Amino acid sequence: MKKIIFATNNAHKLSEVRQILADVYEVVSLADMGITDDIPEPYDTFEENALTKAHTIAQQTGCDCFAEDTGLVIDALGGEPGVKSARYAGEGRSTSANMELVLHKMQGVTNRQARFKTVVALLLEGKEYLFEGIAEGNILTAPSGGGGFGYDPIFQPLGYTQTFAQMPAELKNQISHRGKAVQKLLDFLHKV
Ligand code: IMP
Repeated sequence: MKKIIFATNNAHKLSEVRQILADVYEVVSLADMGITDDIPEPYDTFEENALTKAHTIAQQTGCDCFAEDTGLVIDALGGEPGVKSARYAGEGRSTSANMELVLHKMQGVTNRQARFKTVVALLLEGKEYLFEGIAEGNILTAPSGGGGFGYDPIFQPLGYTQTFAQMPAELKNQISHRGKAVQKLLDFLHKV
């Protein structure tokens, strides 16, 4: 089976992406390659952050690879937490503190519209390719569900009564931002 490097140290993202690519690619993680450093995400766009992560790992390994950057974009908060999603409540990267801060800022707010956005950046034979996935939904007033990760317990995708954290992993993967972006990546890889 062909191998491809996914430039992430996030076990949740790795498991979701492996589910989609499993039949076609063996997805090699940074941990598999002995790379444990956090890759910086200093930019204001998902595209730049994803490309930087991919370039960093391509330089370190000399191999083709892909990376992704994801964030929760909330209309009533002017697009926050956005690219700052991982460190919204501070550098500690605490998921519960990040969710609490969102819920606190959304207290009394009636417009709960939000979306997750993922950008996947692929580096293949020196060329850059970008794939985007978006999942529209609403921010609840309290967390629900024990599955998924990150902001999943407070995000209810449009057309569903469950949060991402209440869904089976397979369903989240079918309708999620990351699922859509990685499916586009797979469609592209089938063609090249
Ligand atoms: P990053 O892409 O690693 O910078 O992650 C950004 C932040 O968004 C982290 O706090 C993640 O926990 C969160 N996040 C990323 N993907 C998801 C998801 O699919 N569901 C919920 N939260 C997510």
